[in-house]
Amino acid sequence: MITAELLRRLRNDLPMNVTINLLGREGPAAKITEGYFRFVCPNCGEQRATVNPRNNLAHCFSCQQNLNNIDLLLTLGYDFRSAVAVLEGWLRQFQAQQARQKTPTTPA
Ligand SMILES: [Zn+2]
Repeated sequence: MITAELLRRLRNDLPMNVTINLLGREGPAAKITEGYFRFVCPNCGEQRATVNPRNNLAHCFSCQQNLNNIDLLLTLGYDFRSAVAVLEGWLRQFQAQQARQKTPTTPA
């Protein structure tokens, strides 16, 4: 079942750079410049879609389009249900990885 809460988590909790890395060759070309993760905008084809790390939303500085994880998969030809299913799997995988990597921090 697709709930509003699940959609919120797919938009917010799975970093867009993780999604794009997992898409691999299927996804847009991407690179990190000036500390920002940028990728080729599926709307205009310019490499000016830039992920805002605060809200995990990409904004294209060329055509002004905003994209989240779900929008990105839809532009690649996924239908809504498949996009949600794929992202849900990746989110689970990502969070399991985060949990494993979590190490206790020691005060400096
Ligand atoms: Zn664009």
